[in-house]
Amino acid sequence: MKSIAILGSTGSIGVSTLNVISAFSDRYQVVSLSAGHNIELLKQQIEMFHPKIVSVASSEDRDHLSVLFRGSDVEVFCGIEGMIRCATVETADMVVAAVVGAAGLVPTMAAIKAGKDIALANKETLVTAGSLVMAEVGRQKVKLIPVDSEHSAIYQALSGQRRDDVRRLLLTASGGPFRATPCDQFSSITPADALAHPNWDMGRKISIDSATMMNKGLEVIEARWLFNFPAEMIDVHIHPESIVHSLVEYRDGAVIAQLGIPDMKTPIAYALSWPERLPLDQPALDLCEIGRLSFSLPDLERFPCLRLAYDALARGGTVPAVMNAANEIAVDAFLRNKLSFLGIPQVIEQTMQHHQGGVLTTVEQALQADLWGRHKAKELISGGVA
Ligand code: MG
Repeated sequence: MKSIAILGSTGSIGVSTLNVISAFSDRYQVVSLSAGHNIELLKQQIEMFHPKIVSVASSEDRDHLSVLFRGSDVEVFCGIEGMIRCATVETADMVVAAVVGAAGLVPTMAAIKAGKDIALANKETLVTAGSLVMAEVGRQKVKLIPVDSEHSAIYQALSGQRRDDVRRLLLTASGGPFRATPCDQFSSITPADALAHPNWDMGRKISIDSATMMNKGLEVIEARWLFNFPAEMIDVHIHPESIVHSLVEYRDGAVIAQLGIPDMKTPIAYALSWPERLPLDQPALDLCEIGRLSFSLPDLERFPCLRLAYDALARGGTVPAVMNAANEIAVDAFLRNKLSFLGIPQVIEQTMQHHQGGVLTTVEQALQADLWGRHKAKELISGGVA
């Protein structure tokens, strides 16, 4: 029996993880759950999975749940301390890091330091402090297995191979809902338009990131740290069918890809069960019905966020953390109708231009850069810069 802690249990990945766990309750048990503000769903999850430790964002919700579950053996905590408790609970074998945004960094680091294996869905953790996180993974000798579908694909395509033989990592991208939208219509894109992703059913933040293609930019940075290859060896292809989840090209010209229907249950189950595979109740991939798969290069004029991510990697240090923070603020402002769709890359670019850069040798520096980026982006948005 493997004991699982889930950070971000009420989000899209958290819910899918619990679906996998409930289908394989003979193999997995839930020891802790952390969530934000979706208390109704969390209540149902507590009743169904009986975690020992639960954490929520606010102290009001903690008090509410504590009263509700008085007499049961679940302990309720809140805030960042609560997330850390969930991430480090002694009985946990693996922590599923599925929080959205840089907020996942501190609890994920705590889990690694506590010797937990990590199933990583929270890409912003590696964008904000990838070098530090991977160094800690090495020190603690824990396993960090990606849940992001592209990185899961690359992880699989690299397995059993020699890294010296790798020529290039090739991340695929659906191109999001605006892949073919005329550029002169971008100024009128609304949050509802941007939330309607053609292939993947995802949370709100990642849906907007997909629409701007910042999601792919974050994933390039994630891949850089996860697999330890330089940015020059990481390319992106637009692949609207989302069937080839990513590829690795080797120096003899061989290319190894991983394919599947676009459903996060498969990479989640792979991360939970690695190196085994679970007998999931998934429809078979029918390539004959799909007929053809198409690929093209991304248009960096149309999607400047992807270019900004490569810029951030090239500048290095604290710049990716600042870029990520500005993106989180810009996406939030867009979702609240305080910023236009075209304003998102403008805010990020200007925030990055204002940042002088700095070395990244401690988590504290990453958190400070994150905070600085948030302040600067908010200032730019309220100043009407974009
Ligand atoms: Mg992905």
